[in-house]
Amino acid sequence: MSNVTPMMAQYLEIKAAHEGALLFYRMGDFYEMFFDDAVAAAEALDIALTKRGKHDGDDIPMCGVPVHAAEGYLLTLIRKGFRVAVCEQLESPAEAKKRGYKAVVKRDVVRLVTPGTLTEDALLEARRHNFLAAFARVRDTSALAWADISTGAFHVMELPEVRLGPELARLAPSELIVSEGGEAPFDLAEDMGVALTPLARSSFDSTAAEKRLCELFGVTTLEAFGSFGRAEISAMGAVIDYLEITQKGKLPLLQPPVRDAQDRVVQIDAATRRNLELTRSLAGGRDGSLLAVIDRTVTPGGARLLDQRLSSPSRNLGVIHARLAALDFAIDSPRIGQDLRAALRKTPDLDRALSRLSLDRGGPRDLAAVRTALAQAEILSDLLPAADLPDLLAAAARDLVGFEDLAALLDTALVADPPLLTRDGGFIARGFDADLDEAVSLRDEGRSVIAGLQQKYADHTGIASLKIKHNNVLGYFIETTATHAQKMLNPPLSEAYIHRQTTANQVRFTTVELSEMETRILNAGNRALELEKRLYERLRREVLDRAARIHTAARALSEIDLTTALADLAQDENWCRPEVDDSRAFDITGGRHPVVERALRREGDSFVANDCDLSAGQGAAIWLLTGPNMAGKSTFLRQNALIALLAQMGSYVPADRARIGLISQLFSRVGASDDLARGRSTFMVEMVETAAILNQADDRALVILDEIGRGTATYDGLSIAWATLEHLHESNRSRALFATHYHELTALAGKLEGVENATVSVKEWEGEVIFLHEVRRGAADRSYGVQVAQLAGLPKSVVARARVVLDALEQGEREGGSQKALIDDLPLFAAAPPPPPAPAQTSPVVQMLSEIHPDELSPRDALDLIYRLKDAA
Ligand code: ADP
Repeated sequence: MSNVTPMMAQYLEIKAAHEGALLFYRMGDFYEMFFDDAVAAAEALDIALTKRGKHDGDDIPMCGVPVHAAEGYLLTLIRKGFRVAVCEQLESPAEAKKRGYKAVVKRDVVRLVTPGTLTEDALLEARRHNFLAAFARVRDTSALAWADISTGAFHVMELPEVRLGPELARLAPSELIVSEGGEAPFDLAEDMGVALTPLARSSFDSTAAEKRLCELFGVTTLEAFGSFGRAEISAMGAVIDYLEITQKGKLPLLQPPVRDAQDRVVQIDAATRRNLELTRSLAGGRDGSLLAVIDRTVTPGGARLLDQRLSSPSRNLGVIHARLAALDFAIDSPRIGQDLRAALRKTPDLDRALSRLSLDRGGPRDLAAVRTALAQAEILSDLLPAADLPDLLAAAARDLVGFEDLAALLDTALVADPPLLTRDGGFIARGFDADLDEAVSLRDEGRSVIAGLQQKYADHTGIASLKIKHNNVLGYFIETTATHAQKMLNPPLSEAYIHRQTTANQVRFTTVELSEMETRILNAGNRALELEKRLYERLRREVLDRAARIHTAARALSEIDLTTALADLAQDENWCRPEVDDSRAFDITGGRHPVVERALRREGDSFVANDCDLSAGQGAAIWLLTGPNMAGKSTFLRQNALIALLAQMGSYVPADRARIGLISQLFSRVGASDDLARGRSTFMVEMVETAAILNQADDRALVILDEIGRGTATYDGLSIAWATLEHLHESNRSRALFATHYHELTALAGKLEGVENATVSVKEWEGEVIFLHEVRRGAADRSYGVQVAQLAGLPKSVVARARVVLDALEQGEREGGSQKALIDDLPLFAAAPPPPPAPAQTSPVVQMLSEIHPDELSPRDALDLIYRLKDAA
């Protein structure tokens, strides 16, 4: 390293300790990057790549971003999958100089920025959680722990490895920590868009983890929070360890871990979530998802709670009923609801302000957010009546109060509209601290004295245009034009006015009096700033001392927001209160699909409400739904699944009446999408998903199957659909909706006790099909595919030809002939509308076919027959 500058040596040393991250190396007002980091960052950020000095004889590539704009660049880098080590200057250049002429400013990494450890508002989506998760295996158990450091939430659950995918889909963490050297779920992480972070095995050591967790939460045993298995402790330990690494020892305020159990919530696999577009639409964004359509929350915390509830509908009747009772109250007291919502609109994001304060990444504005939120909390609790509140709201009301002293302290301490950063001071209100007030008046007095001096010097020199100005290099100075300055540069004036600087047109002076005044102002200013920072620290401590209770209050605010938001939605959209019990009922009257309904309404159309009753008998209850494409089969299937989920998350539902026996699992196999990236055909994806359903669904599952077997040849598809339906009925015994275009399946309704036919009705009018979107019992009479094709604008000649083929096929089916022969027998395709097909009885081939009884044919006879048919054609 002999030819390396001391600064570069420092850079290389720090960089070596942070492999795998881009190093943001602070130099004055910039974060600079060097070598490969610079090349990668310049490309990712689309900024200029320059060079600085040489290393081993080669130019050193360099690029940089200004510190004041760093957040935006960080966000881009994180989104593009980088992690960033932020290296700050730990002393001023002046301090470094004191240690020696060539000493390099001390620097070190103060924070590692990764997708799962963000806290800045600019880097986070306000209305979504940002989870950091860790997956641990200990012997034959495994567990998943997850935390949101921007809100302090911390959870863990035991989880067999096969359930990792569905859980990741539910939580949608942005980063998953796994043990180095172990088998990592790369495919899974990629599918879910989760950044995978391998961490040293030692971070997963459960004995060390237990100690660390006890220390962190100030308890002697973790039993205080529940009884955790080894794998759970290991996963939690990994989360804490990773936070310590990335936050460089500053731990965020985590709430004590909450132990989740898988059987607490409805199990929904990743494909089903995607298909039903619960929180993201198939296009990828929030727009068009169920979440976007039902979200009426007015605070970010409420929006995050809604996202969480919708992703994890409950399986606990007590929980569901408590939420519905709260909702009933809000619906029955619309005035209170409106007032609550008005107050909530003025409530800042308490959780995130608190987390920034705890990581010392906050500022006066975060203190002000706490102040405002606590004041609003008080107002909200006053709005709620003292008596007759449902439990959930009564508990929330209790959690909102008891912060009078802190709220009063912050209120007197802070100015109305404080700045974002502590750096320049100016956030502590006058009258709060006598020492500060004194320093501030000294500083301000000094400033007014200086303003007065200008007049005095103008009189004294006789130069009316003379000005006193200030800049960062000279401090205060007197400025005159070059012409006037001559007078001041010569005695007697030059005795009082000391020359400082000559610029192109101006000459600058000072006086002893002016510099003394300046020193006084500077000292008073520095002292004021010092005092303000100390007061900030005190206020921050006061807030953090009550962090646990503030988190509880934040949670109560979110709960009230969510309750009133769902009430608002239910009233506006005319939703009904679902009856949820532990029966096996599934009885919906007048059900609607909220997202489709919204889309139709926007175009001035209305949605046709439909009933669904899967309550028959004690065993399986399956509706087999037939009807042409575009009739509304998928919509019907999905709407029933969504109604069940909404009910179990504790919301009213888009229906006139709904009774739902608790659902434990929800499966769907809807639509067909190629997964070519992984070399799977549509059919393969479909079969994999179907297999998963048949292997897992139990008698409390709700299963939605749309067009099973569509991706393969007719008879293959029909047989697979047939067998699948039988399996669902006989083995899984689930409640299910099964949409198909195989009319043959409708015969099963007669054979299997729990299967009923239903169809989406259409009308045919002058050869065109009209969709009524009405679901009724019974089987569809025909498929209308050709008519639908016509609607879609297929060329007339193609539609006409399709009709001919269809007629021939249907006739053959009725008469039991060979389809191949029929197809051979068809008149040739003509681009011009073909002549009407010859009457069937005149064709010798058809004539021959009508005399055949296939059941009685041997293979040999059949072959002979084909030769004879061919001859006759
Ligand atoms: P299918 O699955 O039978 O092919 P879809 O469920 O995709 O049909 O529905 C096709 C279109 O019909 C939807 O995009 C929607 O615009 C309309 N639609 C479906 N169901 C209804 C309904 N109940 N009321 C009004 N329009 C509906």
